[in-house]
Amino acid sequence: MLYLDAAATTPVRREALEAMWPYLTGDFGNPSSHHTVGESAAAALETARAQVARVLGCRPGEVTFTSGGTEADNQAVKGIALANPGPRHIVTSSIEHPAVEESCEYLVRHHGFRVTRVEVDGEGLVKLDALRQVLAVGATLCTIMYANNEVGTVQPVAGIAQIAKEYGVPFHTDAVQAAGWEPLNVKDLGVDALSLSGHKLGAPKGCGALYLRGRLHTEPLIHGGGQQRGLRSGTENVAGAVALATALRLAEEQRVQTVGSVAALRDRFIQSVLDGVDGAMLTGHRSSRLPSIASFCFPGTSGESVLLELERLGVVCSSGSACAAGSDEPSPVLTAMGIEPAIAQTAVRFSFTSAVTAAELEAAADAVVTAVATVRGLR
Ligand code: PLP
Repeated sequence: MLYLDAAATTPVRREALEAMWPYLTGDFGNPSSHHTVGESAAAALETARAQVARVLGCRPGEVTFTSGGTEADNQAVKGIALANPGPRHIVTSSIEHPAVEESCEYLVRHHGFRVTRVEVDGEGLVKLDALRQVLAVGATLCTIMYANNEVGTVQPVAGIAQIAKEYGVPFHTDAVQAAGWEPLNVKDLGVDALSLSGHKLGAPKGCGALYLRGRLHTEPLIHGGGQQRGLRSGTENVAGAVALATALRLAEEQRVQTVGSVAALRDRFIQSVLDGVDGAMLTGHRSSRLPSIASFCFPGTSGESVLLELERLGVVCSSGSACAAGSDEPSPVLTAMGIEPAIAQTAVRFSFTSAVTAAELEAAADAVVTAVATVRGLR
């Protein structure tokens, strides 16, 4: 089976598994316990925090461990908005992950905020002139994802952060898909808050992290024993934090080399699919895209049928985001990019880890050509 659905989740890296193992077994302590077993867990947690902080270029105290990307996004959007309501206006994009989109909707429903979703162009890039106009009105928070999970388009995050700063608006970015592929130094990016998730990077599901710039006020969403400076109560997932820190550190160490080689493989794969499938359309930006994602629409098919056919041929991938799986609605991300709903229904996303090989992607491209032809009734 060829797994080409890394944007949904990745297998746990051996190094991450080995690093977390002691904290599930011998050093299983609760980091809040005042004895040596607890102290050992607390030390591991703080080492993990420092490792994440090193990759992000921030202070360890600015990193909070969460249960994943969804919680990090919720904490950033709701936490910043509730602590600094100001004009009660959230500015976001029309292609955000539901973790951000639904957090904004919650603020509308329960706290009297309004939300402006800045449009994207046909390749998924946020329209910067429109963003400026919206921010000029005044906003509580601007939240725009770093890289899109369905089409892989990478936003000019440093430029967007600069614009938000000009208007004095705090800026959060969901870097869940960008992590491991794009630079994450929060000072260079100029972001005030940034979300990460472990399982897209080779750590287990259920662990994530949120960077919050030191002086930014935030309302905690989870109340309890006051762990993590009172920002995120609950006994910390020590093993998960250790695995996340390990996977993030390794991804960052290997990033520059990996990006070049995987992007070259991705481009060859894209070309083979476009050459082999009549009418195939690449979605997302041609160059400003994650090395790990190639997504297409195949007019004259349905994405779900192509997926089934590909699975029969030994390739697993996705018809859009895993979070929207099971829904018959065309992807809101693709329709926001101006793709007709009937064409958006034909979307298929291929996404890979840095371990992908040329031979795998050649086999995948052949399978795509066969699968689409079968679904179109040509074979
Ligand atoms: N943000 C983006 C862009 C994602 O792709 C995902 C997961 O698909 C999430 C947030 C949610 O992360 P998690 O699955 O860790 O809750």
